[in-house]
Amino acid sequence: MTKPVILTGLRANNDLTLGNYFGGILPMIDMATRSADDYQINMFIPDLHSFTTPIDHSKLHDQILHNARLYVAAGLPLDNNSINLYRQSYIPAHSELTWILDCFTGFGEMSRMTQFKDKTAKIGDAQISVGLFNYPVLMAADILIYGAKYIPVGEDQTQHLEFARDIAERMNGRFGELFTVPEPVLKQHEFFGKEQGLRIMDLQDPTKKMSKSDDSGKGVIFLGDAPEDAAKKVMSAATDSLAHIAYDRENQPGISNLIEILALLRGVRKQDIVAEFGGGERYGDFKKVVAEEVKAFLSDFQSRLAAVDDATIIAKLETSEAAMRVQAGETLLRVQQAVGLRAKG
Ligand code: ATP
Ligand code: MG
Repeated sequence: MTKPVILTGLRANNDLTLGNYFGGILPMIDMATRSADDYQINMFIPDLHSFTTPIDHSKLHDQILHNARLYVAAGLPLDNNSINLYRQSYIPAHSELTWILDCFTGFGEMSRMTQFKDKTAKIGDAQISVGLFNYPVLMAADILIYGAKYIPVGEDQTQHLEFARDIAERMNGRFGELFTVPEPVLKQHEFFGKEQGLRIMDLQDPTKKMSKSDDSGKGVIFLGDAPEDAAKKVMSAATDSLAHIAYDRENQPGISNLIEILALLRGVRKQDIVAEFGGGERYGDFKKVVAEEVKAFLSDFQSRLAAVDDATIIAKLETSEAAMRVQAGETLLRVQQAVGLRAKG
């Protein structure tokens, strides 16, 4: 019996943030290590997704390996055979399946994707690539090619997961059972629990989430920031004029965000932070505590990162990629046979 597949990826388009660390990497590693006995875990670096919007290509190659290093520094075990760590572009079947699925995907269907509408509203026409339009199909291929059932998705990806289900059902309806249909969004949320709701906010504008592709990066703590610089970002975080430390996302988003960050860094509950600092009037003193904690965290994380051994990572990537090429190849062949590109076995 093959084990059901859990699949998760993190785009390598920039250095990762404190938000990605606590909201993405840590829960992912925690889930992977907890579930590895009963599930096949596919953790992949979606490198082909990295340039749906323009990037500096001279940095991409390093960034890809760097993402793997970040996982390892954050605690991902490399010696567990149930956990696969691979680079998407090293398994060409992803791209080949994408093309086939493209031809069964409606232009109108893709045009309705809200991520596409949101992203294109923000960038100039000249920067809107067909890749940006099309990437939900690549994402569907990433999932369907391994028959993945569980995929942790944030809010901005739920529509794409629905699309992956739609296209799987469409192809199955037309050609017979080709694909495992991923579980619906609600089931995904049940499966992964509610930690998906964590949102660290931008330090400069605490009404929007901290994001690795933010233009200025002034309110963003990157894992690669010099600890001193990160501390300065915390010291200049936007707060309010109430002069009263309290957890109140609505009226005091800046202070609430700092409370959340401190709680995460110390590994305690927000209530514990509020119990310690709540009611205080001096935001500067509180920021200093948070800044010191951020500094200590980054120094520690960066020294763990420096100690990560690239050769071990590359060996793991290559082993996983070889295994994934076999699995993906089987699905691709089934699809090629179904659409008439290959003789039926
Ligand atoms: P981009 O700007 O490229 O969309 P991002 O920082 O929003 O980058 P994503 O690649 O969209 O990052 O998300 C990667 C993972 O990090 C997801 O699991 C997402 O839920 C998590 N994540 C992203 N931003 C935050 C945040 N501010 N707080 C908590 N979790 C976050
Ligand atoms: Mg995002």
